[in-house]
Amino acid sequence: MNTQPEHVKCLIIGSGPAGYTAAIYAARADMKPVLYQGMQPGGQLTETTEVDNFPGYPEGINGPQMMADMEAQAKRFDTDVRNGWVTEVDFSGPVHKIWVGDGADRTEVHADSVIISTGASAKWLGLESELRLRDAGGGVSACAVCDGFFYRGQEVVIVGAGDTACEEASYLAKLCSKVTMLVRRGEMRASKAMQNRVLGMENIEVLWNTQTVEVLGKDGVEAIRVVNNETQVEHDIPATGFFVAIGHKPNTDVFKGWIDLDDQGYIKYEEAGTSKTNREGVYVCGDAADKIYRQAVTAAGTGCMAALDSERYLATRGIH
Ligand code: NDP
Repeated sequence: MNTQPEHVKCLIIGSGPAGYTAAIYAARADMKPVLYQGMQPGGQLTETTEVDNFPGYPEGINGPQMMADMEAQAKRFDTDVRNGWVTEVDFSGPVHKIWVGDGADRTEVHADSVIISTGASAKWLGLESELRLRDAGGGVSACAVCDGFFYRGQEVVIVGAGDTACEEASYLAKLCSKVTMLVRRGEMRASKAMQNRVLGMENIEVLWNTQTVEVLGKDGVEAIRVVNNETQVEHDIPATGFFVAIGHKPNTDVFKGWIDLDDQGYIKYEEAGTSKTNREGVYVCGDAADKIYRQAVTAAGTGCMAALDSERYLATRGIH
């Protein structure tokens, strides 16, 4: 049995647009990257149907296909793409230690540089009807910027009351004939400026103390059944789209204690305008560090930055 841990120059953790872009750049720079795909190969885009805003696809492309293309492109330059998720790390020394998998399958990998691209996961309400229609591409989405365009001139409902929900409601209001915003309490969590923006838009109706009971529709959203949690009165709101904007959770738990995280678990950049974390040789890209933009194209951009930062770091250490 081989007990010596494998040693790699560049280990990439995560397989969304950030990870695959980092892999393409790292592989072309001869860094021989190894990429672990994580729990959800392809990342959040595998939950999306149509992607219309990624440059280079004039006719649009579906999310899973786009991720398969990115994977193929990374492999074309010999990225070693592996199935497996990271369960533990030790970033205390110049050689970074990473453990992949559990139990008998657990393996230890040592890396000179690490690129974290573990992304974030949208939170969902957890209703059966919501998840069924989301998975069927039937009008349930967690990204207004990605999917709002499909609902031009139509009526939609959005749930949430943070900055994201306000930003997305305003975005939708420019495209849709009416946006109904469901706020579960009598006030919003969002900043005053964001709230004012929403409250000032004519075609946004805010329903306070209101929660979702069910998303109605067999193959696509037809209406949202809601309940006022003070009066317990239920009613249905006709809509063709249902947007869930109740927050995201960055997939960074495994890095706690090694990498500086903010109070919501997003990885902090050590130096603005770079991909550097507080650990030398460890870089971050994509949604694991981004709670503002969260777009495939911004994730890809930061993936490129992480590969270039990593390449420079290896060069300064004389690792070729
Ligand atoms: P938040 O955690 O700030 O807000 C989540 C919202 O969803 C809350 O209003 C919460 O309600 C509501 N919610 C949670 N669970 C449910 C549920 N089951 N049913 C109904 N409503 C629910 O997440 P955001 O994504 O809005 O923001 C995350 C961070 O990113 C924040 O720090 C925000 O400021 C920042 N951000 C900044 C932006 C900017 O500066 N342009 C843009 C977007 C985000 P409740 O209030 O009752 O708990």
